[in-house]
Amino acid sequence: MSTRCSVCGGDRLADHLAVGGEQGPEGLIPTTDRFGTALSDIVRCDDCGHMQLREIPSDAELERAYGQAASDDYLDEEAGQRATARDLLERLERHVERGPLLDLGCWVGFLLDEARARGWDPVTGVEPSEFASSHARDQLGLDVRTADLMAADLPTGHYRAVVMGDVIEHLPDPGAALDRISALLAPGGGVMLMLPDAGSRLARVMGARWWSVIPTHVQYFTRGSLGVLLETHGFALRHLGTTPKAFTVRYYLERIGGYSRPVAGALVAGAEAVGVAERMWAPDFRDRMVAIAVRR
Ligand SMILES: [Zn+2]
Repeated sequence: MSTRCSVCGGDRLADHLAVGGEQGPEGLIPTTDRFGTALSDIVRCDDCGHMQLREIPSDAELERAYGQAASDDYLDEEAGQRATARDLLERLERHVERGPLLDLGCWVGFLLDEARARGWDPVTGVEPSEFASSHARDQLGLDVRTADLMAADLPTGHYRAVVMGDVIEHLPDPGAALDRISALLAPGGGVMLMLPDAGSRLARVMGARWWSVIPTHVQYFTRGSLGVLLETHGFALRHLGTTPKAFTVRYYLERIGGYSRPVAGALVAGAEAVGVAERMWAPDFRDRMVAIAVRR
């Protein structure tokens, strides 16, 4: 049972969303819908506004949840992910000089490949998935190690930038991750984090049905609570903005299937009929954020 806020350490955690699922023979069974299921209910810190699971899960529980969350969307959507990566790198370069770059949780390596093309040198990735890390090495010729994100053997005081996309919201101890990143950074270096914004208007309106309420998410950051975490761990915030995920029209339409399968099927068929299903579309729902902060 977590009795302390993962961000500020406060102990005034109030009930926020009842979304805890039940473990059945096939894994986590949603109590209501396909969306809105977590490993336990979500609580909110009265002091800093951060939200987190009431019970912080064990590694074993998280690994089971990851098995269920395996996704093969990510290779099909290469053009969109590369466009998003270029936009993020351009923002990073306004605050941090190019140099050695590390991507913790780099998946198949699209951001690393784009960074290399923009003059970051060398670029290194760490990725626990055997499938994704071997794709990065074999198809893109990248230096990507297959390892646990926080345990990989890396030089300290070395990197100009450490990137962590869609990772920190999965971590039982996000502060420890920032301390690790701080140790890896060279003086003047910066961190770039991309993650869902649980304080966004969309997240607040959707509640338990917001698509980021999924079993592998442990932390639900707001802009405020992310800022508190960064400041507490020795970082000065330089940029906080929204970042859409650029995907094809087909991807977004198919995701609607999580709410209504017949509707999604009809929409995909309609989009195919008019020839737009593979066209890139980056709607900014303003419910994903990017933070860039430099080591003080
Ligand atoms: Zn707090």
